[in-house]
Amino acid sequence: MDEIAPGVFVATAEQYTTTTTVVVGADGGCLLIDPAVTVSDLAALAHWLSERGLRPVAGWSTHPHWDHLLWSAAFGAVLRYATPRAAAVVAGELPGLVSGVRESAPGHDLTLFARVEALPDREIDWAGPRAVVYPHDAHAPGHGAVLLPDAGVLIAGDMLSDIEIPLLDLDAADPFDGYRRGLELLASVPGVHWVVPGHGHVGDRAEFRRRVDADRGYLDATETGADVADPRLSQEWLRTEHARHRARARRS
Ligand SMILES: [Zn+2]
Repeated sequence: MDEIAPGVFVATAEQYTTTTTVVVGADGGCLLIDPAVTVSDLAALAHWLSERGLRPVAGWSTHPHWDHLLWSAAFGAVLRYATPRAAAVVAGELPGLVSGVRESAPGHDLTLFARVEALPDREIDWAGPRAVVYPHDAHAPGHGAVLLPDAGVLIAGDMLSDIEIPLLDLDAADPFDGYRRGLELLASVPGVHWVVPGHGHVGDRAEFRRRVDADRGYLDATETGADVADPRLSQEWLRTEHARHRARARRS
């Protein structure tokens, strides 16, 4: 668990290098963002919180993919939010999301899985530092990045990773355009000192800018069929995703 800014902690799970963010608010209450991944990861997080007298008072899921919708009874029964579009996708695709948990991180209490409420507001209402939502449809519909303006921390969900290429939502009408719009929204977020990707490593302001440029470059090259020399393509599963992106670009 790393304290990347006062009262903002990031844990990194072994599986998929997945991050969980804890934002400490008033009286030991905390906002828990994308707690993940395995049952033992969540148990360790609950233990860490209780040792410090912290307890979740609100939850946020950045987007409607199974590894961002997990919860544990040990965190308590608190309101968990997502963007309205993400909440609608969860409601419509629950069986598939549950299958994802069963296959890849079995053993979770599925009665607590994906219990997110739609938050129409642009700020999470909780007793803690301001948490501003930036909704877009890159990577998944209703993706909601969260900026903590006081700390200058952008919790980006599955965007701006140092280890994953942009992963397009291939069910979208125009995946490249949709991804670019989401990426440019995040690029325009003011006052970012730290970026927290859903999978990968925390980056500083310069690294934030570098990743925005890398992702722009990736999208442009992939869409036009140019050579893509992206070091993130060292992983085989990402080369497979890249081939799917390429195939989609050729079709349109
Ligand atoms: Zn995702």
